[in-house]
Amino acid sequence: MVVRSYRIRGIVQGVGFRPFVHRLASQYQLKGWILNDSDGVLLEVEGKKDDINKFISDINEKHPTIAKVDSIEEIETDSKVGLYKDFVIRNSVQKEETKTLIPPDTFVCKDCIKELFDKNNRRYHYPFINCTNCGPRYTIIEEMPYDRVGTTMKKFEMCPQCKREYEDINNRRYHAQPNACPVCGPQLELLNKVGEKVEIEDIVDFCKEQLLEGKILAVKSIGGFHLVANALDDVTVKRLRALKKRDSKPFALMMNDVNTVKKYMEVSEAEADILASYQRPIVLLKKKGNLLPNSIAPNNPSFGVMLPSAPLHYLLLDDEKIDALIMTSGNISGEPIVFKNDHALDKLHPIADYFLINNRDIHIRVDDSIVRCVKGNVGTLVRRARGFAPYPIKVSKKLNRIFAFGSELKSTIALSKENEVFISQHIGDVKNDEIFNSLLKCKNHLEKLLSIEPNAVVCDLHPSFRSSNYARQQEDLPVIQVQHHHAHMASCMAENNLDEKVIGVILDGTGYGMDGTIWGGEFLLGDYKEFKRVGKLRGLFLLGGDKAVKEPIRIGFNILYEVFKEKMFDYDLPIYKHLSDQEKKVYYRMSEKKINAFETSSMGRLFDGISAILGICHKIEYEGQAAIELEGILNREFDILNPFNYEIVEESEMYILDYKPIIVEIVNLLISNKENISTISRKFHSTIADAIGKIVKKISVKTGVSSVVLSGGVFMNEYLLTNAISKLENEGFKVYFHKQVPTNDGGISLGQIMIANSNMEEY
Ligand code: ZN
Ligand code: ZN
Ligand code: FE
Repeated sequence: MVVRSYRIRGIVQGVGFRPFVHRLASQYQLKGWILNDSDGVLLEVEGKKDDINKFISDINEKHPTIAKVDSIEEIETDSKVGLYKDFVIRNSVQKEETKTLIPPDTFVCKDCIKELFDKNNRRYHYPFINCTNCGPRYTIIEEMPYDRVGTTMKKFEMCPQCKREYEDINNRRYHAQPNACPVCGPQLELLNKVGEKVEIEDIVDFCKEQLLEGKILAVKSIGGFHLVANALDDVTVKRLRALKKRDSKPFALMMNDVNTVKKYMEVSEAEADILASYQRPIVLLKKKGNLLPNSIAPNNPSFGVMLPSAPLHYLLLDDEKIDALIMTSGNISGEPIVFKNDHALDKLHPIADYFLINNRDIHIRVDDSIVRCVKGNVGTLVRRARGFAPYPIKVSKKLNRIFAFGSELKSTIALSKENEVFISQHIGDVKNDEIFNSLLKCKNHLEKLLSIEPNAVVCDLHPSFRSSNYARQQEDLPVIQVQHHHAHMASCMAENNLDEKVIGVILDGTGYGMDGTIWGGEFLLGDYKEFKRVGKLRGLFLLGGDKAVKEPIRIGFNILYEVFKEKMFDYDLPIYKHLSDQEKKVYYRMSEKKINAFETSSMGRLFDGISAILGICHKIEYEGQAAIELEGILNREFDILNPFNYEIVEESEMYILDYKPIIVEIVNLLISNKENISTISRKFHSTIADAIGKIVKKISVKTGVSSVVLSGGVFMNEYLLTNAISKLENEGFKVYFHKQVPTNDGGISLGQIMIANSNMEEY
């Protein structure tokens, strides 16, 4: 017999961890105690050596789904054998500083689903059922430690039955903070278009009828409102598009289970696992035939599908006739997702026919997360939000306490402490006032919850990014400014635990460069501390600046000018049909005299330009649309074709990828009608993958560096990512790409922290 003491760190509070350990201890007949403190869990056990070893390995392997064990460390103890009579849960000890992780929101567990549909259960059809293994967390937590009084559930007093469950160590609801039942907990309410209460016996049944009749519902979910409609009803989907003023941005779908998803989509094993994971993200899946209306995601080979994340979703989908629901974020274009009842009425009344609300408040808005599996098996986060935030990314370094403001468009913020970076949920385009305010709110909230007082802040180098301006003007702390693509590179290094010199292939939309021009097709050489630009895409010009980002036709036009100059109109190209004579004249002059024309090396813009030249997309409705549609026609098939001609020029110690020969070939194919658009797109994609391989090889030969990181929004392009990885790996490089944080600007805040940290003195 021995006595041993352990410290366990990770997500071990509010997730049913102590009852689990308690049960395990009795199984091995161990005596002793366990308690929560602000460092995690502390544990002392007395028993046979072998049993204790098995007990510890069981903790590692069999812990509750949403718990996360980061480390189990044996610590010294003076206790002697014979001290304990049984195993007990001791009272929590709260140290001053909170170190325990905030649990993210999670799915509805199997046990709760069973009760939800059990007519004899007191929570039958109760839409707020949860237990220690499941339910809302981050979205309802107002303050730490995570206790009922620190959540939006504090206004509901538990009935005697719920209280008994809550206090019973052997109950699945022991210390389940959001525990509730129909007697004491939150309730649904249905409002009509003008906000009047609809008095009805069974609200959910009524809603299902309305959905089948083609009505649109605003439904309060976990992190905010969804606009919900019957996805099989093309007329309603189109009506929703018209009302939301959104012609082409894909709508997400919700289906009841993996088998239903398989009816409509191609689902790999890895994708099925991610669909059913407790985070319940939207997974981008390839369409199977045309069983669902194309209007859900026009010009796109994929649909985004998720499984239910709230009990209410299960109830709404519990009908043979409802196979798939549209579940798109409840917001007005450009604005954040609505998460309060009164705002929902205010903002969404022109769209929704009914409002399915409830009185459990959401404290902080969190969007749905989006995951895409690269080649069907490697999950990569496209948007990191519900289910993942605010769980930290572990890095291999001890970090200063730093706050990062992130980027501008797909912004996230981040806070660092020790070897962890806490990245916020996706916040969005901070040019919008409301979104910027929610960024500031999220900043305060996270600083408080995590009790991190930063001693420096970091922002993007861009002179006119809103958050950067705010940082420079408002912050009393030292403000470190970081180049955008260096941050992309550092972000990818950090999540892959790299701390060495790397070659960064950063293909992106827009980022402010060290020379004051807009970068985005960059080959960087460096580490966290510094970098050198060793390669780039030949410049093209944005006619009218930001206008050109919204109207790729301007970029296509400028590219043709850069290649052919006054001969550009000798070719009868489809792109010209979409321009008036006046526009042609103006764009020509802008290109020729470089009036209101801004140079950029952006690879994203080259993709936009090609998309316009091929007649695929001239004007965009959502970010990246032109490039997404250019890739879309490849139909998620990854075979590579012979590349077009291209040139790599060496100029002032940089390799410059010259796109001009590519354009000449594309134009020749277009006018000769020899190849279809899809083949031209595939050849273009193949060319860029080939060029990445060649340029990286040249840099590596010169420098001896052989680790390559791929980052930037253009690597959202699955074809390019997949083929760049194979090209580089075939050449013997070690290749790293994003999985845990987005390759787009959602990953910038992580990179900013790493760079700022390396440029600060040790604390
Ligand atoms: Zn549960
Ligand atoms: Zn109750
Ligand atoms: Fe970027």
